Amino acid sequence: MALDPYYEVVIGLEVHAQMLTRSKLFCRCSTRFGAGANRQICPVCAAFPGVLPVLNQEAVNMAIKTGLAIKGRINRLSEFSRKNYFYPDLPAGYQISQYELPLVEHGELWIDDSDGQRKRVGITRIHMEVDAGKSLHEGVAGGSWVDLNRTGIPLMEVVSEPDLRSSAEAGDYLKKLRVLVRYLGVCDGNMEEGSFRCDANVSVRRRGHDAFGTRCELKNLNSIRHVMRAIDYEAERQIDLLESGQRVRQETRLWDVGQGVTRPMRGKEEAHDYRYFPEPDLPPLRLDEARIESLRQQLPELPDARRQRFIADYGLSDYDAAVLTAGRELADYYEQVVEQVAQQLADNAPTMAKIAANWMMGDLLTWFNDDPDKTRALLPAAHLAQLIDMIQRNTISGKIAKDVLARMYASASPPEPPSAIVERLGLQQVSDEGALEAAIQAVLQSAPDELARYRAGQTRLLPFFVGQVMKATRGKANPARVNELLQRYLSATET
Ligand code: ADP
Ligand code: MG
Ligand code: ZN
Repeated sequence: MALDPYYEVVIGLEVHAQMLTRSKLFCRCSTRFGAGANRQICPVCAAFPGVLPVLNQEAVNMAIKTGLAIKGRINRLSEFSRKNYFYPDLPAGYQISQYELPLVEHGELWIDDSDGQRKRVGITRIHMEVDAGKSLHEGVAGGSWVDLNRTGIPLMEVVSEPDLRSSAEAGDYLKKLRVLVRYLGVCDGNMEEGSFRCDANVSVRRRGHDAFGTRCELKNLNSIRHVMRAIDYEAERQIDLLESGQRVRQETRLWDVGQGVTRPMRGKEEAHDYRYFPEPDLPPLRLDEARIESLRQQLPELPDARRQRFIADYGLSDYDAAVLTAGRELADYYEQVVEQVAQQLADNAPTMAKIAANWMMGDLLTWFNDDPDKTRALLPAAHLAQLIDMIQRNTISGKIAKDVLARMYASASPPEPPSAIVERLGLQQVSDEGALEAAIQAVLQSAPDELARYRAGQTRLLPFFVGQVMKATRGKANPARVNELLQRYLSATET
């Protein structure tokens, strides 16, 4: 969308990521998704009087890993606070969160801006907090149900600086953060199921002005596409207000997916006073160096580093490297394929890595992205390597290989190896002169006009004849061989 060029959009994102622990943040209840209502609760998360919270150290470790991965400062001393508010799905009347002393501060995430340049986005803080329950209004006459299964589930809130300048940058930031938490194994990044949620703070200002404008906070954004659309709509709305001499009111607004607009939810005057105060039932969280060091050692190779290594080691373009490292599974798979191909075709390893990338970025990537069963698209690495090997050795053409790949994907599990498919269907490339000769003769006889024109000097008709021979052999002829033989026949033989 083209915004008024005199204005600049300013965006800061608050992401709530559900951590992948087995139990809740302060009790031993399960975090498993999909259990019957109120089947995963206990006196602690249901806030019975007199019970005490016990901090889940696995959740702390996950938040620390995330903090290290964004190069943040891990506070050796942090504390929990009570954020007080009333809501039926919050039985305690307060949420345990971190306020003045969060676990992580001053981090960063690198994104690709609209000009393809790398851009640093500051991360103000990451703190831990509990999720609330869920109110169910549907199918309940004259009332609501409350399901507390989610109450107490561990969340990390990742707050960015207001460093983003377009909806595209906001989208890329979310993608990068989601890839990162998935690499770390600390969150599944599922926006539709609500395990990775985002609120967007949006303001606009005249270009060249230093002061930020008044912001609105957008909620109910459950996909990256909706975050981007909501930001575009909201920026436009604020610019229209300013252009017509009005002011932007600081408020929380809800994204209406159906209408594609944002609507006011509550204004600043109605904003909650949360009366934050330190949580009296939990001691301050103190971390020692050994623990942080050991978690640092456990970090996997991170997406940015892996992307750079793919460019350096495999000679991939920045784009290919970005796509192939966008998921840990995909990147691991690519490296397995490269390793297999290198074993089969030891010579020319860098070229092979590039060829393997091309094969992965075609149909296979489409299947991978579209199929919820991710493992199915990732055919056995040895199979893909064998396919590439067969192309390199001219056993099959690239076109046939594409077909064989699709057959492998469609075949029962475990998928049939390409060599078996080629054998069974007789798809081997034909390079034998005798066999090709017959096809060439037949084609030349069936196209006397083109033949005459070729002989009269229209040599650009050569690809036409090659195409006909390929068609006659159902793609099995070796195109290079056909080319060579055809030129000989066309110039030398009278038919
Ligand atoms: P609050 O305490 O009300 O949540 P914060 O200062 O914590 O406010 O900011 C919340 C988010 O809003 C952060 O992501 C921050 O980057 C963003 N933000 C702050 N000011 C602006 C602004 N003028 N325009 C857009 N985003 C902003
Ligand atoms: Mg906030
Ligand atoms: Zn519990």
